[in-house]
Amino acid sequence: MKFVVVTGGVISGLGKGITTSSLARILKSRGITVTVVKIDPYLNVDAGTMNPYQHGEVFVLDDGMEVDLDLGNYERFLGESLPGTHNITTGKVYRAVIEKERRGDYLGNTVQIIPHITGEVKRMLRDAGQTTGAEVVLVEVGGTVGDIESMPFLEALRELQQEVGGKENMAFVHTTLVPVVGAVGEAKTKPTQHSVRELRSIGIAPDMLMARGPALLTPELKSKISLFCDVPAEAVISVPDQVTVYHVPLHLEGQGVGDYLVKRLKLPSRTPDWERWKQFLSTYDKATREIHVGFVGKYIQLKDAYLSHLEAFHHCQGNLGTKVTVDWFDAEELRKSPELQQRLREQDAIVIPGGYGVRGIEGKILAAETARTHGIPFLGICLGFQLATVEFARNVLKLKDANSSELDPHTPHPVVTLLDTQEGIANMGGTQRLGSQRVLLSEDSLLHHIYGRREVFERHRHRFEVNPTYLERLTQAGYTVTGTSPDGRVEAFEVPEHPFYVGVQYHPEFLSRPESPHPLFAGLVQAAVARREGVIAPKQEVPRVHAPKVVA
Ligand code: GLN
Repeated sequence: MKFVVVTGGVISGLGKGITTSSLARILKSRGITVTVVKIDPYLNVDAGTMNPYQHGEVFVLDDGMEVDLDLGNYERFLGESLPGTHNITTGKVYRAVIEKERRGDYLGNTVQIIPHITGEVKRMLRDAGQTTGAEVVLVEVGGTVGDIESMPFLEALRELQQEVGGKENMAFVHTTLVPVVGAVGEAKTKPTQHSVRELRSIGIAPDMLMARGPALLTPELKSKISLFCDVPAEAVISVPDQVTVYHVPLHLEGQGVGDYLVKRLKLPSRTPDWERWKQFLSTYDKATREIHVGFVGKYIQLKDAYLSHLEAFHHCQGNLGTKVTVDWFDAEELRKSPELQQRLREQDAIVIPGGYGVRGIEGKILAAETARTHGIPFLGICLGFQLATVEFARNVLKLKDANSSELDPHTPHPVVTLLDTQEGIANMGGTQRLGSQRVLLSEDSLLHHIYGRREVFERHRHRFEVNPTYLERLTQAGYTVTGTSPDGRVEAFEVPEHPFYVGVQYHPEFLSRPESPHPLFAGLVQAAVARREGVIAPKQEVPRVHAPKVVA
């Protein structure tokens, strides 16, 4: 088992996650089995309780773990599902160590950061490699070198390098910033020099530098960085922003990153296979048709809060050749502004994503109504699905005060409610229906057509569900349940006389990948194209591009 560790210096937000994902993909394209682990040095045990405004979207894995959004990037770049153990946080490490201490596993010894915390980190990293059988484990260390919080992790990694046999089995890739400053636009290497010095002071010598910045580095600058930082010039890599994150792996390949890593780690040298990836990029770059999707959310100032949805639209562009422009609608403002409401009616499709809490819900309900009554292709996800159900109950069934009991505990018509008696909602993260669950689709439904199958596995993250007490009335009025769980919960509904009106209790965005866009997103985009081009195609055949992983 070998390791490639990606650290970051100078500032945060340099795209370490994309660098790590790209390196993983570069090795995988050579037939090397890889896996990826994210270290988040914060004290939270997992990302489940974290505010999307601070950290971006909470990503959910098959096993139900709520993790950092970088795990989503790894999955998308690798086209593989990862387990929750591949997101290591300080909280998780300390919890494991304290549990061992309470059990008496340390035999009376004083429990310390070194060797116990560092030992636990090393054990978790090795485990990630062993359980997946990966030849190379990529490890991304969150934060910036020099942060107090990341010290124990970097110490563990330094020790691990010795234990696995040194440089041949473990490479350190350091991501830094090369800013361009001044009137003449000079690229500055000093921040990189300082950052590398900081890394060396804790005993880690980088093997490769990823220089982020607006400009491509000249050969002279590469040799200057090489000289000052003691990294071979061929391992000083220039990474200016690309059209999309999916352009990064080939940009790195173009600078010999793959061949260098293979040589450094003494891995088998094979010709990389980029055929499918290149096809994606070429379709993406050549896209001429364009549609606008109205995205009605609550966190629209921070686009990372909806990262997986945005990526799913990029996947559509790279497979269907349709450019998807997302027009953002703040749900609260939408409710108040007739101009915004008019703009929403002009969209080619409308999406209401998941969410929690009462803010903006009336605006979202209005958006669901707009889509339904104007024949605009619509996808409601989780909270979006629940609110589309509320909209249907209010406006079609005429149950005026219908609501979800999450949002109005006193509603006379809780059409969405807590199904199980789950104690302790205060125990955040502990009471949700999480992870990959089986969904059964009705014969000949739109969902059956777009998935091309009757049974799928989709990821979940919710507490509230459609209230079965209202189902008969809803159904009689045209609310058509086309997806259920094996134990009969409502997983999806459609409005059959509408060209594309779909609500799903689960989160399709987590399973969309560049090489297999999620059928629901692909279906929505195709329906939007059909509408724009004046061809209404209610039950179009969407090419089956995605087969969700079947989990036993
Ligand atoms: N708040 C809703 C629930 O808990 C929806 C959750 C979501 O959209 N992820 O059921």
